[in-house]
Amino acid sequence: MTVRIVQRVRDRMECMRVRPLLQSLVDGQLDDARRELVATHLEACRRCGLAASTYRALKERLRGFGQPPDPDAIARLEEFIDQLADEHGEGGPPPVTERP
Ligand SMILES: [Zn+2]
Repeated sequence: MTVRIVQRVRDRMECMRVRPLLQSLVDGQLDDARRELVATHLEACRRCGLAASTYRALKERLRGFGQPPDPDAIARLEEFIDQLADEHGEGGPPPVTERP
């Protein structure tokens, strides 16, 4: 049982390490070594995989508007992805609705 907890914590730490890199991965700004690190993690981790594909989809959609996304929108996007990734909601607030 202890082993499982250790494994969980280790997964969690890996997620924290990979999470900041997801955006750069989608933006194609990672070097080979880090891209491989992230890609390997995405194969094993559903939460981060979901976060990455969500980010990619939303980015595509933003691009569809034909104007550069404003930093505010990106910040909200990142928040949203964090919420998605923490879908089990361990103490986190419930997802915020999009816009007034
Ligand atoms: Zn992960």
